Amino acid sequence: MHNVAVVGGGPVGLLAAVLLAQGGVDVVVLERRTEISGRPRAIGIHPPAVVALAAAGVDVTREGVRIEEGVARSDGRELGRMRFDDPGVFSLPQQRVQSMLRARLTELQPDALRLGRRATGLARRVDRVEILGTDVGARVVVGADGVDSTVRRAAGIPWHTRPGRASYAMSDVDDARLPGLAVLSFERGGVVESFPLPGGQRRWVALLTGESGEPDLARIVRERTGHELAADASVSVFAARQNLAARFVDRGVVLIGDAAHEVSPIGGQGLNLGWLDAHALARLLLQNPTPTAGEWRRFERSRQASARRAQAQARFNMRFGRALPAPLHRARVLGIRMLTLPPARALLADAFTMRRL
Ligand SMILES: Cc1cc2nc3c(=O)[nH]c(=O)nc-3n(C[C@H](O)[C@H](O)[C@H](O)COP(=O)(O)OP(=O)(O)OC[C@H]3O[C@@H](n4cnc5c(N)ncnc54)[C@H](O)[C@@H]3O)c2cc1C
Repeated sequence: MHNVAVVGGGPVGLLAAVLLAQGGVDVVVLERRTEISGRPRAIGIHPPAVVALAAAGVDVTREGVRIEEGVARSDGRELGRMRFDDPGVFSLPQQRVQSMLRARLTELQPDALRLGRRATGLARRVDRVEILGTDVGARVVVGADGVDSTVRRAAGIPWHTRPGRASYAMSDVDDARLPGLAVLSFERGGVVESFPLPGGQRRWVALLTGESGEPDLARIVRERTGHELAADASVSVFAARQNLAARFVDRGVVLIGDAAHEVSPIGGQGLNLGWLDAHALARLLLQNPTPTAGEWRRFERSRQASARRAQAQARFNMRFGRALPAPLHRARVLGIRMLTLPPARALLADAFTMRRL
């Protein structure tokens, strides 16, 4: 029997495992895949997560691109700017961080990461939880198995839908202009965002407003902002959804990351929130390998409160980026000008960079 078994070797489960292994805990990670998925997902790493990853021996500041400033634009004009203070926001694809975490875990405990192992359910025993479909049992089972979590379902934890839903088109294109600058264009037809990526690339994201078939992102960006995208980049579509698990802790089972909360990618906080869950969980288990009911309750309350704040922030971002008729769009432009002036600007920068989570 292990002290801790993590189901899901995604970026969140791996960080939890690395922090625990570093503290001398016997931990195992069960991951159904053998290769890391290539699907483009998170890129933005906010200051609290930069610190949490550094504590695990993973330095994202060397390979990541530092995003120094965010600029809000509309109708070809700049509405305001905000600077991101030290240690700054970094852009690095989550697959790269995941492979750095895999390497770090293997360095600490060579047999901790078990690839090609799929959990199919849970069986609770007096002193442990067994993970069905595998031969692993542990005192604490951590469900870090993503939005469709098997662990959450097996533990009978309800999944509540929260407000905020929309579809977006996304593409990573060769574009070395504007290094260090995140650009949010609030246009009548809907928001267009772009962020620097390592390797002279840039990620473009645009709200979809009823377009049918495969979206023509280059046309949407051109019509809304006048910017020309590289034509041959492949485009993917994602649905921004928000969900929250009714409980994060349930008799020897703990949920972290997307298994516990799905946060709209608009605002880029879902993965960062999961990394903060992993950090808080490791701190709790390193202080007391058998936390009391009160300690588990405090952990759960604090992580659920953070998830609700991140979801509220994402909902705000999504509402601000809607397609709007001219009078409402003018009111929005005025609102953004006010928000990007002191003292609101400092509060907004804190909210965007997750300093209050
Ligand atoms: C387009 C897009 C852009 C995004 N951008 C950002 C961003 O900029 N910033 C940000 O913070 N977040 C962003 N996110 C959210 C971010 O990608 C997720 O929050 C993050 O992947 C969650 O990590 P996780 O480890 O909790 O779950 P996952 O990454 O889903 O990992 C779960 C792991 O569990 C494994 N697994 C699942 N079931 C089982 C099982 N039964 N047995 C064993 N293993 C199992 C899976 O194979 C997977 O490896 C974005 C999401 C999308 C879709």
